[in-house]
Amino acid sequence: MMNVPLTVGSLLERAEKFFPKKMVVSRTLSGIHRFTYKEIGERTRRLASALEKLGIQQGDKVGTFAWNHHRHLEAYFAAPGMGAVLHTINIRLSPEHISYIINNAEDKVLLIDEDLLPLIERVNEKFKSVKAYIIMTDKDELPETTLSPVYSYEELVKAGDPSFEFVKDIDENAPAGMCYTSATTGNPKGVIYSHRGIVLHSYTMGLADTIGLSESDICLAVVPMFHVNAWGLPFAAAWFGSTQVMPGPQFTPKLLTELIEQEKVTLTAGVPTIWLGVLNELENGNYDTSSLRAVVCGGSAAPRGMIKTFETKYKIPFLHAYGMTETAPLVTVSRLKSYQENLDIEEKLDIRSKQGLLVPGLEMKVISADGEVEWNGQEMGELLIRGPWIADEYYRDERTKDAFRDGWLYTGDVATVDEEGVIKLVDRTKDLIKSGGEWISSVDLENALMAHEAVFEASVISVPHPQWQERPLACVVLKAPYKDKVEKQEILDFIAPQFAKWWLPDDVIFMDEIPKTSVGKFLKRALRDQLKDHLIK
Ligand code: ADP
Repeated sequence: MMNVPLTVGSLLERAEKFFPKKMVVSRTLSGIHRFTYKEIGERTRRLASALEKLGIQQGDKVGTFAWNHHRHLEAYFAAPGMGAVLHTINIRLSPEHISYIINNAEDKVLLIDEDLLPLIERVNEKFKSVKAYIIMTDKDELPETTLSPVYSYEELVKAGDPSFEFVKDIDENAPAGMCYTSATTGNPKGVIYSHRGIVLHSYTMGLADTIGLSESDICLAVVPMFHVNAWGLPFAAAWFGSTQVMPGPQFTPKLLTELIEQEKVTLTAGVPTIWLGVLNELENGNYDTSSLRAVVCGGSAAPRGMIKTFETKYKIPFLHAYGMTETAPLVTVSRLKSYQENLDIEEKLDIRSKQGLLVPGLEMKVISADGEVEWNGQEMGELLIRGPWIADEYYRDERTKDAFRDGWLYTGDVATVDEEGVIKLVDRTKDLIKSGGEWISSVDLENALMAHEAVFEASVISVPHPQWQERPLACVVLKAPYKDKVEKQEILDFIAPQFAKWWLPDDVIFMDEIPKTSVGKFLKRALRDQLKDHLIK
């Protein structure tokens, strides 16, 4: 059969050709912008030609430092469309890590949101490869800045060539994008996405048994475009001609819920902390969210209680998925098999709050010290993955040899597999609690805690213990009306029936807030540091 290279430029080309009237709705600081795919296509081609005029060549890295909006979407296609590599930079990294990754990737040009300029101005003296800065602003004039040379995004687009041709003859295995993932210690680790990997991952997003993204969807990616390509949604949504809604820099639960109502969003995606906030908003406000057919939730375990409330109280279908930066990211999606549809609601929730079934196209193994674990939902081991959209190295990084071995990605996630092949993540290897030689899953305890009506957020960490080496400690944020009204013991009594006694946390610590990572996950490392002496009297 024909050996036609799979390229990222062709994804947008399809939207231009077959869905020229479909819309990209983008909210920036100056309000809502509406562009058709025809306009987005033309602006993207102009941007690609402008990058070429600035001296960007095939293989060069184009860094973006931006929120989710239409200009970022254009950069998503312009860089790979001209054979360059889109490097999305996590705006929430520390200044040291920002300059490390820009230098490690050797970014030649940076596209920066106006409101994020100060973060770059703080570190740009350390950049070794950046030749130009492009400011993404709605205003007519460029802002004052110490960066040089600077260009206006809109002026470059205006002067660009609308008939610029996306590269077609490029090797499909050539890099199209890259993103860095945080490490427990040391610098972030770079992951390269090939054209082929992005296109195959986009196919997967459209399968009925995964996310089922389609032309009829109005897709709101809340997950940032600087984090694993917003889970690949901008690429797949453009290819399928789905409407895209982009929330811009402000995504408070209130603004998100309003956007869902106003734009009649059908599918949205983000980490659990986002949905906990939205749930709180729904409980206090009055919104019409009936357009939603799926809230895709991944990045951390979706609490069972949250899934239940969304579905039973608000009739909003939930879709729990799992993946990581190294996997582009989709690895599993949690759906019932047809013959499980007549189980009772609690049994169904038990299944659907697991991480789910491996999507077609990937292979997996779960291994313990004794080899592959049995599929009995009990035996725990590390999850290994391989497939065409799984990275095979960290970019210019010695840690490659730890995570990529014998053709497999060692995920660092500990999982069980049940008789149906459904994966349940028990913990990350580094978060697992090892008490007296036995393992306790922090995720299971968190899930149970978050089902209590007074609990807003809960994170369970491992802390040193003189006798048991490590013991679980629960950090709990109460919902506002319950502050100071709930005792520790009540919380422990609530979860006790679900666990062996030795699994129960040694203490419950009430907090105003749980520290979060740059992408909104619980920052357990910070909690562990803060509480490391808590059980050592
Ligand atoms: P970071 O390490 O910066 O959090 P990633 O976003 O790549 O980077 O995180 C991937 C990790 O997130 C996975 O290895 C896993 O531990 C966790 N994760 C992702 N999705 C889920 C999920 N549905 N349930 C539990 N954990 C998840």
